[in-house]
Amino acid sequence: MKTFLTDSLNKIEKEGLSRTLRLLESAPDSVVITDRKRVIQFSSNNYLGLANHPVLKQAAREALEEYGLGSGASRLIAGNFELYERLERRLAKFKGTEAALVFPSGYQTNIGAISTLMGPGDIIFSDALNHASIIDGCRLSGARVVIYPHRDLNSLKKIIQQSPEAPKKLIVTDSVFSMDGTLAPLPGLAALAKSFGCWLMVDEAHATGIFGRKGAGTAEHFGLEEKIDIQMGTFSKAFGSLGGYIAGSHCLINFFINSCRNIIYTTGLPPAVLSANQAAIDLVEKNSELREQLWERVKFFRNELNRIGFDTLQSETQIIPILTREPSLTMKFSRYLFEKGILAQGIRPPTVAEGLCRIRVSIMATHSWKDISYGLKILEEAGKTFGII
Ligand code: PMP
Repeated sequence: MKTFLTDSLNKIEKEGLSRTLRLLESAPDSVVITDRKRVIQFSSNNYLGLANHPVLKQAAREALEEYGLGSGASRLIAGNFELYERLERRLAKFKGTEAALVFPSGYQTNIGAISTLMGPGDIIFSDALNHASIIDGCRLSGARVVIYPHRDLNSLKKIIQQSPEAPKKLIVTDSVFSMDGTLAPLPGLAALAKSFGCWLMVDEAHATGIFGRKGAGTAEHFGLEEKIDIQMGTFSKAFGSLGGYIAGSHCLINFFINSCRNIIYTTGLPPAVLSANQAAIDLVEKNSELREQLWERVKFFRNELNRIGFDTLQSETQIIPILTREPSLTMKFSRYLFEKGILAQGIRPPTVAEGLCRIRVSIMATHSWKDISYGLKILEEAGKTFGII
C-alpha cells in the first residue's frame, strides 16, 4: 500500500497539483490569523460575515444549553428535534415553496437528491461547470448524463431534442457557479424544462443570501419559485453555518424522507446548528443592507481588477476568478499574495479545467474599504511581478 500511496503523491507533486491543509487560528472573519500571520481573507464563502455573528452564536448557545451537543440518532429513528421542523417551515416560507428538508451538508444534499430521483434509463442534462457534488450525484444515480456547454441554451435545446425517450429527464445547474462566479440563465432553462417535459433542479449554494429582495436566491430574483421543481441550497456559505437543503413540493420532501439514503442513514444535525440556521434566515431576510454592502464591494472590486488588466472571465457575482492559467505560476502568485497579507487561494485541476488555473477571490460584505484597496494594490503588484498584466 505504501508504494501505491507514495507513487500517487509523487505524481501529484510532479504535476504541480499537490494540496496541503492550511490551519486557521481565528474566527473566519474578513481578517484571519493563519500560520501566525494576520491576513485579509479573500477565500471564504462566509459572504455576509455571519459565521461569527453574535445573533447566530446566541441562538446556537441557547439550543446547546437546552438540548445538548449531538442529536443522538438519525432523524427517522430518534434525532428529529422540533428545531428541525421549525427550521424547515421557516425555510419553505423563505424559499416560497410548500415544504423543505434539511440535510447534513450541501454535498450530501446533491448526491442524495439526484441519486434518489434519477436512475438507470433516465437522462440528466448537466451544465459543464456544475459543482462536484452534482457530478457525483449524477454518477451515483446510474442515469445517462449529458453535459451541455456552460450556460449554452441553444446547445442544450438541440441536445434535449436529440435525446431518446426516457422515463424521467432532469436539467440540473448551479445558479451561481462556484469557480467562475457566472449566473445560470434560469428563465431560459425553466422555459426549456417546461417545453420538453424535463424536471429542473437548481443549486443555490452561492446565491442564497446574495440574490433576491429577501435574499432567497436566484429563484426569487427571477420570480421562478413556482417553475423550479427542486431548489437546493446550503447553510454553509452566506448563512455562515452548516447543512444543506431541498425546497419544493410536499410530495418531493415526503419522497426523500421515505427513500433518500442521505437522510435515512445519517445522524441528524446538532440542535445548535439548527437553531443558528433559523436565526441566519431571519437575519438575512431582515438585513438587506448586508446584501447592498456586498454588492457595492463586488462591483468596485471587479471593475478595478478589469481596469488594472486582469481577466476575470465572465464573473457577475461575489466570486471573482483571476485567470493565471498555469498551476505552478498560480501557486507562486498565491504565495506572493500571502506574504503580503492577502489570503486568496489558487485553484487548479481537477477543480477547474487545464489551462484555466486561477486565483479565486470572493468578496465579503464585511471587508473594510481599506482592506479592499490594499487587496487591489497587492494584486496589481503581483500581476506585474508575474507578468499577468
Ligand atoms: N454546491 C455548490 C455549488 C458548492 O459550491 C458547494 C460547496 N462548495 C456545495 C454544493 C456543497 O455544499 P457544502 O459545503 O455545504 O457541503
